[in-house]
Amino acid sequence: MDSQSVSLVRASFKAVAAQEDGPDRLARSFYSILFAHHPDLRDLFPAVMLSQRDRLVKAIAYVVDRLDEPDKLLPFLRQLGTDHRKYGVRDVHYVAVGDSLVAALRKFAANELWTDAVDEAWTDVLDLIATTMKEGANGVSGASVWAGTVIEHERVLRNAAIIRLQLDVPIAYTAGQYMSVQIPQRPKMWRFMSPANPANDAGEIEFHIRSIAGGWVSQAMVGSTDIGDRWLFGSPLGELGLPKDPTRDMLMVASGTGIAPLRAQLMEMAQRPQNPRVHLFVCGHHPCDIYDIDVLSDIAAMNPWLTITPVSEVDDNPWWFHGSQDRTSPAMANRITGQIGKVVAALGSWADRDVQIVGPPPMVQTTKFRMMAAGTPTANFRHDPLF
Ligand SMILES: Cc1cc2nc3c(=O)[nH]c(=O)nc-3n(C[C@H](O)[C@H](O)[C@H](O)COP(=O)(O)OP(=O)(O)OC[C@H]3O[C@@H](n4cnc5c(N)ncnc54)[C@H](O)[C@@H]3O)c2cc1C
Repeated sequence: MDSQSVSLVRASFKAVAAQEDGPDRLARSFYSILFAHHPDLRDLFPAVMLSQRDRLVKAIAYVVDRLDEPDKLLPFLRQLGTDHRKYGVRDVHYVAVGDSLVAALRKFAANELWTDAVDEAWTDVLDLIATTMKEGANGVSGASVWAGTVIEHERVLRNAAIIRLQLDVPIAYTAGQYMSVQIPQRPKMWRFMSPANPANDAGEIEFHIRSIAGGWVSQAMVGSTDIGDRWLFGSPLGELGLPKDPTRDMLMVASGTGIAPLRAQLMEMAQRPQNPRVHLFVCGHHPCDIYDIDVLSDIAAMNPWLTITPVSEVDDNPWWFHGSQDRTSPAMANRITGQIGKVVAALGSWADRDVQIVGPPPMVQTTKFRMMAAGTPTANFRHDPLF
């Protein structure tokens, strides 16, 4: 897309989103137009649409932000198209979604803002999205949905669980990728989750899940999952994974269950004869929030290329925690107390490293910001979409 069209799309989206309740009103309007014209599509969505609306607007913002970075945007859209096969989406649905979105934007943009040029620019963007997603969907054959049975549910923290499943058929994902997951307790509410182990022929897969306050799906996963539950999975997505240059040193920063996609990569690296140096910072609010210490320290103990530094925001555990003060191990460096972004940035610019940051969106953004201020080049960073 030319830079003029990109600017028009960005400015008009920003203007609509800046209105009072703009994002929510835009999403409500979009879905009501879509369902009014295509009632058959309503069935694909959950009864409660609140999170769905929030995610829609974040996803549009993500695409709009990357319109001038086709090397990042196009692979993302292709993967999203491949993933959307799980809904049974057909070509005609892309037209319906594009038309409804333009109609919703037109409704909320001030008349003087919605010029023919803006209309045309949005039509081009939606065309690009639809064409690229269709390419992704039509470019693969084989399964669009996988299924697995829960075989273990381990509560590792008050608000987090490790859930292990046996897949009916193994999924060929790259260590570091994520996939959409649906559980029987929350039909049609797909959520992205990152496997914490590399893909294997036995179809064993593990997820680390943090229960979010007020969260529809994460609370049910952590609190209500039973052995024998059947989970569904979409196609793997994401660009995290071992760097293309196998000699390039790496820096990994994980908060909470954000360790999952990094742990999968470390487990894969542990199978290789040679690896670059990797420094992993693993953080939690309290020292006791840092979990999975046994597995991480085993990997560190057997692999001298790996250094693990635990970081906690505060030095003490909460009064109700009765375990040992520090759940660390001799294979790890001493725990540092401080805000993760500040701690990592204070230790250098990491300018020679491929940097992966995984955790809640505010943590990823703050850490990246602190590190850029300390001299880490923007091009070094990789992280998943923040929605
Ligand atoms: C690429 C990717 C990979 C992910 N991998 C994992 C994983 O391996 N393990 C895991 O536990 N989660 C993971 N997540 C987050 C997960 O997909 C859900 O967003 C999260 O579990 C909340 O879903 P929910 O239905 O419980 O909350 P919702 O009902 O959707 O939202 C409830 C409220 O929580 C807020 N919220 C949503 N997500 C978060 C969040 N991550 N942090 C703080 N507040 C939030 C919403 O804004 C909303 O206000 C991943 C997300 C992405 C984008």
